[in-house]
This record gives sequence, structure tokens and C-alpha cells, in this order.
Amino acid sequence: MYDLIVIGGGPAGITAAAMGINQRLETLIIAACWGGQTSYAMHLEDVEGREILTGETLLEAFRRQLDYLDFVRRFDRVSRVMPEEGHFVVQTETGDCFESQSLVIATGAKPQQLNVPGEVRLAGRGLSYSATAHSGLFLGKDVAVIGSRRYAQCATADLARKAYRVYLLAPEPLSNTPLAHKLRQMENVEIMENVTVEEVKGEQFVERITFSLEDGEQREVPVSGVFVKLPRTPNSELVQDWVDCDRAGRIIVDVNCATNWPGVFAAGDVTYVSEQALIHIGEGAKAAISAYRYLLMC
Ligand SMILES: Cc1cc2nc3c(=O)[nH]c(=O)nc-3n(C[C@H](O)[C@H](O)[C@H](O)COP(=O)(O)OP(=O)(O)OC[C@H]3O[C@@H](n4cnc5c(N)ncnc54)[C@H](O)[C@@H]3O)c2cc1C
Repeated sequence: MYDLIVIGGGPAGITAAAMGINQRLETLIIAACWGGQTSYAMHLEDVEGREILTGETLLEAFRRQLDYLDFVRRFDRVSRVMPEEGHFVVQTETGDCFESQSLVIATGAKPQQLNVPGEVRLAGRGLSYSATAHSGLFLGKDVAVIGSRRYAQCATADLARKAYRVYLLAPEPLSNTPLAHKLRQMENVEIMENVTVEEVKGEQFVERITFSLEDGEQREVPVSGVFVKLPRTPNSELVQDWVDCDRAGRIIVDVNCATNWPGVFAAGDVTYVSEQALIHIGEGAKAAISAYRYLLMC
């Protein structure tokens, strides 16, 4: 029986496992893919050589610790998690079964893709899924944000402070929120609603985006950056039936990363707290410390 099983090998999971080991907990981390979404990086033509602190760099120290202690890692996909009396049973797709007294769920979220020509080729070459991580690379440039909801609106506000011009290309009309109202007042933000994006263009890096408006008019605008901020799907299905999640499926946690179920903690993009590796490194550490305290007191 493990003290702690961490599910997920992104920034939140890796840090939680490293912190669990530092607390001398019998820890196991199970991950379908090592490194999570930090394996994406952004390369831009004119920012080469500039110091960019990536999530990958920050995570490296924790990851090295787990690479060294390779008996704590298991590369597999968890297929089922069941609460039993006083402990949890974790099953994997390859048929392994583990037990633990506490859990950290750090399974991240799936970003929704645009599925248009140019998206895959130019991802990391001006096309980003994270304004928190990459907006600072687009100082004084023209960029487009694609999305209608809160994440897209926040990304637009964030970019409007740094970029020269921001086009918010919203597939649906914006809801009437105070943030949407503020965006409509901003001089360097142009909002277009009921837009269908058709292509992201560029040789080596993003150069233009083409889209059609509700009345069928085709438009193309020159941009150096495209931020895809469509709703993401949290990977919370393993615990959704018995741990409280919000309407979008994100696991609800308190300030200590505790869920409503004693002994179950969650961190990273699978929760409401989103979306930067730096933040999730802290959240993962916090979740493991909370698990440690829970084990002390239960
Ligand atoms: C394209 C892109 C670029 C980004 N660039 C940056 C950046 O430069 N800087 C930055 O700070 N942030 C960046 N972000 C945001 C950042 O990467 C995420 O916020 C962060 O990775 C989330 O960490 P996480 O640990 O919660 O989840 P993730 O990194 O998504 O990791 C989830 C982990 O859970 C595992 N997993 C999921 N389901 C299961 C299962 N059933 N069984 C076992 N394992 C499972 C996955 O294999 C993975 O290891 C970027 C995001 C994207 C999408």
C-alpha cells in the first residue's frame, strides 16, 4: 500500500510526486506521458537568444529527481480509480492495480483545437494555446485570439496590454459580462463575432489569419501571433462520479488543493486554477503537502 499515488506527469504531478518523496512518503506517480503539456515550446523569428523561462526549464529540477528514482514512476494510463474503505484502488490500462491512502489527481486538460489548415504546422511558431505563457513574446505586435468565453476574453485583455492590436475572433457572440464590456471600450481591441476561422498562414512563422464573417464576407488580417482559446476539457473522468466538479468538469478544490473527498487532492489544469506551468508547480507541491498532513492526522 502506497501512502500517495499521483496520477499525471505534467508540472503539477511531477512536483507533487517530488514533494511526496521529500516528505518520505511511499509515493508512486503514474503518467500516460512524461512532462505533460510542457513539451510544447514557442519559437519566434525575432526573439531568438532572448531569455525565455519556460515551464520545461522550471520543471527540470523536479523531473531529474524522479528520473533518478525511477522506481517511483510508472508510464501507463490509469483506467479506473475507486474509493474503498480508508484507501483507494488505482487500475491501469495494462492491468496493473495499486493501492494508496491518498491521491493527487493531476491529469491536466485537453486544449480544443481549431482544426484548420496551418494550425498544426505553425503551433509553437506563433500559434499558441496559452496567453499566460506566451503573451509577453508579442510586445508591439498584432495578434488574434480565437474564442468567445471567459478564457478568450481574459487572454484578449492580457494581450491588449502588450500587443499593438488584438483581434478577438469569437465563434459565438460574447456574453454581456463586465469584462466583455471593458474589451469593447479598448482602442486596440477589435471584436468580431460569429466568425469562422478558415486558415492560419505563414511560411516559417504565423503571418496571417483568414476567416469568414456571419454575412459570408471573407477577411484576412496580418498577425504575428494566434492564440487559440476555445473551451478545454479537463481530464477529470476518473473521479467525476464521486468527487465534486464544476459544470465544466473541473475538479473543485479548496486553497489547500483538497477536494470534497477526504484523502483526494487535485492540482493543475484539471482544477479551476489555470494555466501556467509556474503556477502548477506550486499547486502540485501544495497538494502533496496537504496529502502528507492528511496522512498525519487520519
Ligand atoms: C501548446 C501549449 C503550450 C504551453 N506553453 C506553456 C509555456 O510555455 N509555459 C507555461 O508556463 N505554460 C504553458 N502552457 C500551459 C501549461 O503547459 C499547462 O498549464 C500545464 O502543463 C498544466 O499542467 P498539469 O500538470 O496540470 O497538466 P499537463 O501538463 O496537461 O499534464 C497532464 C498529465 O496527466 C497525464 N494523464 C492524463 N490522463 C491520465 C490518465 N488517465 N492516466 C495517467 N496519466 C494521465 C498526461 O499524460 C500528462 O502527463 C502551454 C499549454 C499548451 C497546451
